[in-house]
Amino acid sequence: MTEKPRRSGGKGPRRANPPSNAPEGTFKPSPTRRGRTTPPSPRREGGPVYLTDMDQAAMEELALSLGQPRFRGRQLFHWVHGRLETDLNRMSNLPGGFATQLAEEHPVVHAASVRETVSADGETRKRLLQMPDGQRVETVLMEARGPGREVDRYTVCVSSQVGCALGCSFCVTGQVGFVRQLSQGEIVEQVYGFERWLRETSPERGEGEQRFVTNVVYMGMGEPMANYEAVMASVRLLTDPEGLGLGARRITLSTAGLVPGIHRLADEGLPLGLAISLHAPNDQLRDRLMPVNRRYPIASLLGAAAKYAEKTGRRVTYEYSLIEGVNDSVAQARELARVLGGQLCHVNLIPVNVSLDPTLRSSNPKRVAAFRKALEEAHIPCTLRQSRGQDILAACGQLRYTAENSDEG
Ligand code: SF4
Repeated sequence: MTEKPRRSGGKGPRRANPPSNAPEGTFKPSPTRRGRTTPPSPRREGGPVYLTDMDQAAMEELALSLGQPRFRGRQLFHWVHGRLETDLNRMSNLPGGFATQLAEEHPVVHAASVRETVSADGETRKRLLQMPDGQRVETVLMEARGPGREVDRYTVCVSSQVGCALGCSFCVTGQVGFVRQLSQGEIVEQVYGFERWLRETSPERGEGEQRFVTNVVYMGMGEPMANYEAVMASVRLLTDPEGLGLGARRITLSTAGLVPGIHRLADEGLPLGLAISLHAPNDQLRDRLMPVNRRYPIASLLGAAAKYAEKTGRRVTYEYSLIEGVNDSVAQARELARVLGGQLCHVNLIPVNVSLDPTLRSSNPKRVAAFRKALEEAHIPCTLRQSRGQDILAACGQLRYTAENSDEG
């Protein structure tokens, strides 16, 4: 449970440097032509193995398989995951022959950015990325400012799947349905794209002005626990000291409540943040809003969350989107307080984002304030989180949905 505390702020010193259509539990590793991925992705069977899918050990094996010494693999890892170089010809300490061999079979990255939108306040930037098979996912960069109004956090919200099978009623992605899993490379590239942009656009006023990604949240399209292997492989890549070296405490996985995944995560021994999308204080309502609750009801979810908090020492965050007249009464706030009583937890109240269902509206400020007051009176720690980037459709799945349903595509 250790972490490398490299990324403590938004600025810092410049560094030198499967489609599996079965979402849960059916991921089968398979050998690849050269090198190893972590885990190997069945989606790429017979196709190229992308370098961002490989960890350091895989790159060392790849180097050996191409007749190079092992250390060439480590150099390659540093270029791809540390310096975020996408052009093999610019990896200056690799022999030309090695770069040529790699170019034949190993593209560096999957993703190309096909659309970018920036919120009116400039603090939220959203990208639509297209993968080689034409599938699109979205990713968001959010700035957070400290008390002195300086930016002290750059958080990237990543997608973990194309679409989602869980069908939450308030969610655009859920209405689209599940398409395929993302590989670990396709996940980390969402972070790398913004990290590259932050590095390139950092004010060139000296070492202290370098900007970089400080936090990553798995809260975009998809259910991270339903793509567990690739998600954990991406976490290992992001926390690798030879890569970005993000601290595990600065990474948060969000789940709609796949209980076996929470138990598994608790056993990883990593102090990752855990956020649970709760959105209802009882099974009757949650069954309706989030079909996953019929399989894993609130009591089993809270049991898994308590184990997670105990094993990691980290309090669990409960996301609660306030929907007018559905889950936002004072009585429901009191019921929620009873349910969460005794848990090491924190509640994030979120006025719901626009969804495809016109009957689901965001709670009005008066109801939000009353709900919050009832939680606070019951000593449940909570904050009111404003949905970021409403003007650029920053809710999960909305940019992809909009792009696919407009002429611009
Ligand atoms: S809210 Fe999350 S888990 Fe639910 S359908 Fe949307 S992406 Fe899937």
